[in-house]
Amino acid sequence: MDNVRVRFAPSPTGFLHVGNVRTALFNFLFAKNRGGKFILRIEDTDLERSEKEYEDALVRDMKWLGLNWDEGYLVGGDFGPYRQTERLKIYKKYALKLVEGGKAYYCFCKKEELEAERERQKARGEIPRYSGKCRNIPIDEAKKKVEKGEEAVIRLKVPKNYKIVFEDIVFGHQEIDSSQVDDRVLLRPDGTPTYNFACVIDDFEMKITHVLRGEQHLSNTPLQALIYEMLGINPPIFAHLSTINGPDGKKLSKRHGATSLVEFREKGYLPEAMVNYLSLLGWSPPDEEEIMDVEEIISKFSLERVSKSPAIFDVQKLNWVNREHLKKADLDRLVQLVIPYFKKEGVFLDVNDDIKKFLKLILDGFLTHVDYLSQITKECNMIFDFNPENIVEDEEVKKILSREAARDVINCFYNKIKNIDYLDFENYKNAVLSCMKELGIKGKNLFHPIRVGITALSSGPEIEKIVDIVEFGSRCDLLKKVIPVKDRVKSVLDVLNG
Ligand code: GLU
Repeated sequence: MDNVRVRFAPSPTGFLHVGNVRTALFNFLFAKNRGGKFILRIEDTDLERSEKEYEDALVRDMKWLGLNWDEGYLVGGDFGPYRQTERLKIYKKYALKLVEGGKAYYCFCKKEELEAERERQKARGEIPRYSGKCRNIPIDEAKKKVEKGEEAVIRLKVPKNYKIVFEDIVFGHQEIDSSQVDDRVLLRPDGTPTYNFACVIDDFEMKITHVLRGEQHLSNTPLQALIYEMLGINPPIFAHLSTINGPDGKKLSKRHGATSLVEFREKGYLPEAMVNYLSLLGWSPPDEEEIMDVEEIISKFSLERVSKSPAIFDVQKLNWVNREHLKKADLDRLVQLVIPYFKKEGVFLDVNDDIKKFLKLILDGFLTHVDYLSQITKECNMIFDFNPENIVEDEEVKKILSREAARDVINCFYNKIKNIDYLDFENYKNAVLSCMKELGIKGKNLFHPIRVGITALSSGPEIEKIVDIVEFGSRCDLLKKVIPVKDRVKSVLDVLNG
């Protein structure tokens, strides 16, 4: 144990998306791998865009993924409060300390004045920056103005001709000339801090050892490194995580499909599959095994294997990872997870033991046909939507029926089952066997027509499983109507015989 303390510090201004979930996950994995602490801090200083709804969603999404935090928002800890709007006094204390030490200054420039200046700079093709007008107001004079109630921000007094240096585990050694950093605002007149300032103060006060966050913050880090220096305190270790792009190499966005975690949950991806897939976005395990549960990922995780090349979000691969986890998932759990999708489609409204058993049969038959669970209702539609007319419309079915003896097979099969009340597996097998003997037909010439007889389709899950589902389903009281096997075969024969 080496006292690793990392944090995930989202701004509650929107739903968690793939990018920030990956950041949360890597912090979690790193903390767990090192026996450290994972902290959740809410960065809500953007008062206009922060919403309680997003905070609640954040908590729900993190819990769903199992990214439980050891300390922070809602959980508490020794370094709270963990919500930035409750820490304003702390930021003020540090800002004043910088002012007193000549490392920051009050700026009285009016908004309009600054905007006009910015426009002029832009028109000249320059990068807009603060002119430094208030930089040299003597501190006593400035303090008097503030005491009199004049509105002021506090800006960092960035030293001239100074080399800012910091190390990043992923992106390496970084050196930036201080001329690249503006005299940025640290504290606004209403006492709220700007992101960079609050972040430094909190990371320091919360004893954060490693800052793992998205690459988009790499450009903020020189300013943060400078603030640490000007406060005379040591910065944490930085590790920026590469951008996530879509398969076309462009930054991942709505254009590429679902990007927020809630969308993936609603589609029926398993949380362990999301964790597994997201862990591979910019990190790779030392061995070849890519399908892992969270404990395995934790044990293999290290920042040394985090790559700085952009990660590609590939839905096909996510689907494969999800299918692998679906195969391993507990059946009772999957039953619970698919219930809402069936209810939504009106397949049943209430659940009893028969419905649960029916769903188990459905999952046994159709689970390997889906990428994620919400697809299951459409996939098993053939159980409810039986259309015997399909045999004169579907080209593949017509091909099967054009084969010699196909009709005889269906006829024979019907004769074997028509007096059987419940076609269980044994009965079904016996019926098929006696058709085989009687007609001297086997293999696909036997099974394809039987499939057509039962489903009016040319393909689908194993026919024994379909028989099981249909027979059981036709006797479930709470279920939408399912036509039993013998009635299906009879209808197919009726169409066949015109
Ligand atoms: N609130 C910032 C964000 O959501 C946090 C950045 C950081 O981790 O320093 O992007």
